[in-house]
Amino acid sequence: MSFTIHGIGVSGGIAIGHAHLVSHSKLEVARYEIPVDQTAEECARFDLAVQAVHGELDQLRSSVPVGAPAEFAAFIDLHLMILNDSTLSAAPRTIIETERCNAEWALKIQTDELLQQFDAIEDSYLRERRADVIQVAQRVMKALSGQPGYMPPPSGDSNRNLVLVAHDLSPADVVLFKQHQFASFVTDLGGATSHTAIVARSLNIPCIVALHHARQLVRENEIIIVDGSQGVIIVDPDPQVLAEYQLRQREFGLERQKLRRLRDTPARTLDGTDIELYANIELPGDVALAVDSGATGIGLFRTEFLYLNRTDLPDEDEQFEAYRRVMEEMEGQPVTIRTYDLGADKQIDDIARLAPNPALGLRAIRLCLTEPKRFITQLRAMLRASRYGKMKILIPMLMNASEVDQALLLLEQAKRSLDDEGITYDRSIPVGGMVEIPAAALALGLLTKRLDFLSVGTNDLIQYLLAIDRTDDTVAHLYDPLHPAVLTLLAHIFTTAAKAKIPVAVCGEMAGDVTLTRLLLGLGLRQLSMHSAHLPEVKQRVLKTSLADSQPITRRMLRTTDPVKLRNLLDKLNG
Ligand code: PEP
Ligand code: MG
Repeated sequence: MSFTIHGIGVSGGIAIGHAHLVSHSKLEVARYEIPVDQTAEECARFDLAVQAVHGELDQLRSSVPVGAPAEFAAFIDLHLMILNDSTLSAAPRTIIETERCNAEWALKIQTDELLQQFDAIEDSYLRERRADVIQVAQRVMKALSGQPGYMPPPSGDSNRNLVLVAHDLSPADVVLFKQHQFASFVTDLGGATSHTAIVARSLNIPCIVALHHARQLVRENEIIIVDGSQGVIIVDPDPQVLAEYQLRQREFGLERQKLRRLRDTPARTLDGTDIELYANIELPGDVALAVDSGATGIGLFRTEFLYLNRTDLPDEDEQFEAYRRVMEEMEGQPVTIRTYDLGADKQIDDIARLAPNPALGLRAIRLCLTEPKRFITQLRAMLRASRYGKMKILIPMLMNASEVDQALLLLEQAKRSLDDEGITYDRSIPVGGMVEIPAAALALGLLTKRLDFLSVGTNDLIQYLLAIDRTDDTVAHLYDPLHPAVLTLLAHIFTTAAKAKIPVAVCGEMAGDVTLTRLLLGLGLRQLSMHSAHLPEVKQRVLKTSLADSQPITRRMLRTTDPVKLRNLLDKLNG
């Protein structure tokens, strides 16, 4: 029977494919009694789950993306080693036999026992392997319940498009999709500016989040239409609807092809103002798409993605190679590299250290300043790569003067250590700050007096200004870039930066939303950084924009607090 579910479309376009269900939610474990004559069967069920995880890990290992850090494969090998160890693969069998309990319970008992032993270990490296044990045990647990604990690549049959249906996905999961040609993915949880959604956009496939019950209602292999622009999925569509969407899908593809012709056209308004359109990337492999989209620079390299999907940290040389690759491939065009914004929804260790309010906790620069050694390693890697092009360093989540001063001090320290070793770098490398905490936006002088440029992270700025957790689907409908407070604050940032003669960009998702392009230009913005997939459409809008016509309307928008009037004015602006 055909039915539709509405969510939040986070990446436009239409996909039509077969549903493939995956689960990433935490599992509850119940204990139940197994009759003595069935314990052998229960042991066999456990063995099968272990074998299945073995298969998953082997497959995962063989699908490690080309160019992925070497540690990636090492991390999978470590998990295979843990799985093969008898303490995890054999001991639960004994528990099933002696306690006559279900396999899940036996696995839980044994894992708890192992974790206790880890807690007692003095060696910090070994103690950190605790998280790996948990991850492997969770995979076996999922296999026991018939839910795969990884994202299998689509089958070799290229006609069989797969739409991944998940309850929730982490940004780290989604970044792995970059090598898998899924037609689309949809999730029950997540907000429009969650990092999961952001990475989805960079994949350039239609995606929808906040569907609430899709994982429950959709069955494996059912045909699904995903309309990413409207934020709706149509499950088991009837033939007429299917034909209609196939037509729309073709039209969408043609439109994209047309936009590609603008690649080398400079982004200039009708009244002759040049606008810089840069790309946001997560990994060095994204640069090709950025160049292809016509981006004239990288406005945001979210380097924290180099730290995800692994158990150890990337060392200085590995980071240097990653940054150098981006610099070289951009051939002298500006590259803004952000120091790692780990924490909140991008945890290195996703099991532990979950703060009560992670978005308000130890993330980004706050985390960097608590781990100066790790921060300096990254700064040294960046500085070393700076001589391969035009690099700028961007610091996320700055809130007060002391954070800026401390960060600059550590940068000086990194420079001195390179000087001591006779290693060259760009001595006048510009350092900028992200404006994403309302306090920093309101007291912008704290940043303009100390830094060379600013980049507005509207995703976080809106999250903190409107008090809506960007990862929480239950408040996702409250995300409102047109809220009068957002517009007033943006106007304040742009004018204050202009007065201070400090260049300012927007690199949050607002920059890639074509319905907001004229508004941002009208408010005074001249540099926008977005995912490559959005760039051609935004450029087309810039080419058709007259600043002289837009500014009076945006000024009126700043004077009204009535949401209906604001919408009408925006329509007029875009009309
Ligand atoms: C932002 O907050 O708008 C931003 C660009 O940074 P991130 O989305 O990575 O938090
Ligand atoms: Mg941010």
